Amino acid sequence: MGALALLLFLVLRLFAVQAGVGAGIVGDDGASCFTACLAAAGVRNVTTRGSPGYGAALGASIQNLRFAGAGAPKPAAVVAPASLEELRAAVRCARAAGLVVRLRSGGHSYEGLSYTTEDRSAFAVVDLAALDGVRVDASRGTAWVEAGATLGQLRPVPERVTAFAANRPGSAESVARLVSAWQRVAPRLPVELYVSAFVGAGLPESSNRTTAGVSVTFKGLYLGPSHEALRILAGI
Ligand SMILES: Cc1cc2nc3c(=O)[nH]c(=O)nc-3n(C[C@H](O)[C@H](O)[C@H](O)COP(=O)(O)OP(=O)(O)OC[C@H]3O[C@@H](n4cnc5c(N)ncnc54)[C@H](O)[C@@H]3O)c2cc1C
Repeated sequence: MGALALLLFLVLRLFAVQAGVGAGIVGDDGASCFTACLAAAGVRNVTTRGSPGYGAALGASIQNLRFAGAGAPKPAAVVAPASLEELRAAVRCARAAGLVVRLRSGGHSYEGLSYTTEDRSAFAVVDLAALDGVRVDASRGTAWVEAGATLGQLRPVPERVTAFAANRPGSAESVARLVSAWQRVAPRLPVELYVSAFVGAGLPESSNRTTAGVSVTFKGLYLGPSHEALRILAGI
């Protein structure tokens, strides 16, 4: 029934577009055509610009807030398919409505590629968050991970984790010495303790960003309480 209704919608839509090009039929950026097509296909988790829940759906996983502001082009709609069939329908419906698809997995794209656009063309965000299945076939040594899965789903995370950041400004030589020490220490840490190093001038974590001085920031994540993390670091 869903497939038939969708087919009927697409045929009608084709006629409507041919008859109405230039007549403003898709004046709402194609959102109404998109939602009608989705409804015909039985896809429910969709919000359009201006409707309640739109801001929450769009902002759910935006990592670069520069593209979350009012000035950034916004999608006509955000849809989160609950199954592969719904995903296929979302892509087909977007095409039929003349919307460019922005596919979003975790929303980590620095450039905002999964939730905004530069060329101002009308678009819809297809959010894959609900497609987060993980299937492991130990006998074959394979795993199938859907695009919406997050790291926490791939690895059991304890109730309490420890995160820390330490910024150390200094001369190029002193920063180089710290990085050299990190290069010796980091590979010897247990897998539960991850420490990264960022080197640069004016790092966001630096206490004095106005000067051009170089600094290094160590960021750590330990899958456990802080006293354990401290004990491990003290023993290195
Ligand atoms: C704070 C931060 C730290 C980062 N650290 C690292 C790092 O250590 N190492 C590293 O390699 N990268 C890093 N990145 C970059 C990040 O991993 C990439 O931007 C990556 O694309 C993020 O994946 P995503 O699924 O969240 O992408 P999204 O933002 O969801 O999408 C990125 C692009 O891929 C497309 N896309 C998304 N899902 C699919 C899909 N299923 N099929 C086809 N296209 C798809 C989107 O449309 C978009 O164009 C970091 C980013 C941030 C913001």
